[in-house]
Amino acid sequence: MAVKVNLSKRKKVVLDAIEAMGEPFTALQLWRYISKSDAGVSRATVYRILQGLREDGTIKDIVLSHGLHISIRTEEEAYCIMECVDCGRFQMCPDLAATMTASSQNLSMIPGQIAIHIRARCRDRQQGVCQRAIL
Ligand SMILES: [Zn+2]
Repeated sequence: MAVKVNLSKRKKVVLDAIEAMGEPFTALQLWRYISKSDAGVSRATVYRILQGLREDGTIKDIVLSHGLHISIRTEEEAYCIMECVDCGRFQMCPDLAATMTASSQNLSMIPGQIAIHIRARCRDRQQGVCQRAIL
């Protein structure tokens, strides 16, 4: 049975989960990860803590056209997230983010925030279905 814990401990549970996941995530993926641990943190609390982390700049988002937020914990102002269309896995593309930063500098622009979302397929895709597990 889940036990209620105080806010700072709940925030630590969320931050530890973000660290352990190690890749960009949606709020639902984060919630599913945390719910496996029976850490006593409700879905509403996870979402509320996430909103606070957005507001204080701890995490950054790419917001897709249909409203889905893909979140990442990064200090970088330029970041690129690649999404597998088969399994929903996200991964960072630091090389592309660096290329976009250099490209904007070549255009005499000082990049503020660069946030790129790319849809792709995992390389290990076989028989029409991605072989990686969904979080
Ligand atoms: Zn995949």
